[in-house]
This record gives sequence, C-alpha cells and structure tokens, in this order.
Amino acid sequence: MYTTTLNNSVNMPMHGLGVFLIDEETTADTVYTAIKNGYRSIDTAAIYGNETGVGIGIKRALDEEIVTREQLFITSKVWNDHGDFSQTIEAYHDSLAKLQLAYLDLYLIHWPGDNRFIEPWKAMEQLYNDKRVRAIGVCNFTVGHLKALLEVATITPAINQIELHPKLQQRDMREFAAAHHIQLEAWGPLMQGGLFDNEVLQQLATKYERSISQIILRWDFQQGIVTIPKSTKEARMIQNAAIFDFELTAEDLAIIDAMDEDKRVGPNPSTYNFEL
Ligand code: NDP
Repeated sequence: MYTTTLNNSVNMPMHGLGVFLIDEETTADTVYTAIKNGYRSIDTAAIYGNETGVGIGIKRALDEEIVTREQLFITSKVWNDHGDFSQTIEAYHDSLAKLQLAYLDLYLIHWPGDNRFIEPWKAMEQLYNDKRVRAIGVCNFTVGHLKALLEVATITPAINQIELHPKLQQRDMREFAAAHHIQLEAWGPLMQGGLFDNEVLQQLATKYERSISQIILRWDFQQGIVTIPKSTKEARMIQNAAIFDFELTAEDLAIIDAMDEDKRVGPNPSTYNFEL
C-alpha cells in the first residue's frame, strides 16, 4: 500500500474508494468487497446518506479479520448545514455512530461556504486536539478560501479534497498546496465517467496495455495526488487499484498535462450557493 505522509506525520493511502451516489444497501457490500480486494481507504460523507452502510461493510471485514481497524483509513465530511461549532462536533459524533467507529482517520469540511468555515474549523481543531480524529482537512477550498482559513487557523488543514482530473488540473491550487504542505486529494478523478471515450487517453491506454482509468489514476499518483475513484463493480475496483506496477514516461505525463480545459463536472466553489 503506497502512502503519503500528511503534515502531521499521519500516513494516508495514496489510493482509496469513494462511495458518492451509492445507495445505503449497496454500500455495505461495496465497502466489504473493496477491503477484501486490498482497499484500505474509504471516503464517505454525511450528505451521501450511506455512512451506516459503510459501517456495516467495515464491521464485516473487521469481524472476518480481513483487516484491523488500525490498517484502515476512514474519511467522512461535515455538511454545510452544520455551520457552527457545536453543530460540527455533533455532526462528527453522528458520523461516528453511523459508521460504528470510535474515531475517524480524516474529517473534512465538505464545502467552504461564504466565510462560514471558521466556526466549523475551530470545532475540527478541538476534535483533533482532543485526539478524536487523526487528521483534519477541507474540501473544495479555493486558494482564497485557504488563505482566509490560514489567517485564523492554529492547525493547517492536512488535506484539500478537490475536483481534479485531466480536464481540470488545478495548477494554482497545486502550487499553493505544495507551498503550505497541504496534501491534495482528487475527487471525481475519472471525471465521473466523462473521460472514457477520450481519444488521447485511449491512445495512451493502448500503448501501455492498460485501461483509461488506470492511465488517469497513475498520472495522479506520479504527481503525488491522492485518488478515491468510485466503483460498485469488483472488477473495476481491482482494475482501478492496479496502478503501481507501471510508469508513465515524462512525455506521456506531458500529453495528459496538455488536456487541461479548466472544465468542471461539479459546482464551482467560488460561486456555489451554500445556503440550504
Ligand atoms: P469518479 O470520477 O470516481 O467516477 C465514478 C464513475 O466512474 C462511476 O460512474 C463508475 O461507475 C465509473 N467507473 C469507475 N471505475 C471505472 C472503470 N475502471 N471503468 C469504467 N468506469 C468506471 O467520480 P466520483 O464523483 O464518485 O468521485 C470519487 C469520490 O470522490 C466520490 O465517490 C466521493 O467519495 C468523492 N467526492 C467528493 C466530493 C466533494 O465535494 N468532496 C464531490 C464528489 C465526489 P461504476 O460504479 O458503475 O463502476
């Protein structure tokens, strides 16, 4: 298992499973199947409505002694409707209860909101200082949001989880994150399925005798970006994790680098309406 060392010295797998848009019932089987196939990192969120399913899948794997809790890296996120200190603490404990866990490895603020992240961040810092969670971070923060947060934070976020794929490469954010020791994690790394008919990627897939998905995930890995592709299908999970036994050349990395169109499939964090 390849890992990255976060800015608080905690190790995080470079690759994991995302469970967005997987219904509660399917989630338990999906998570269990992923762990059985070597996945150690699972990314969920309160708003996905499937934390209970994630918990059931984890519990089955633990009961069967496929893994120990310490070998897993479990992430969840506080949703925008928990905009103050006590609501964030409460949301964390709700997530833990649903997941049947004593602690999370990573807890993230899901969206920055319009300067509504300061109170939740203070709560995240308290959870971290109380050793309730091993690392804390954010999602969908722009450079502007991060600068505002860093002005008041006593703990620098370990992670910024952002939409990132060959059509949205986030160069400015990558520079800023590197300078501040914030690990980037790509959501929608496969552009939510939008890249599988891309001719440039298909040519590379043919050249390396790999799938388009493997080419993209390997491109992320070689740049130090954590990925959490979602699949409910066992064969695809196995394929998506089989990216550590080949290497893209510098020329081929540059071919993918040239695909950037600043094109999103998700909301733009600068303009997203965070009011519920
Ligand atoms: P992905 O980019 O991971 O794409 C998932 C889609 O690709 C699904 O339709 C899946 O279908 C398909 N797929 C996966 N692997 C393959 C393969 N090898 N071949 C062909 N098709 C494949 O999108 P997500 O939006 O799910 O992003 C990943 C994770 O990031 C989420 O699950 C979630 O955990 C997180 N996320 C975080 C957000 C945030 O705001 N912080 C926002 C959105 C996502 P199938 O299941 O049928 O295989």
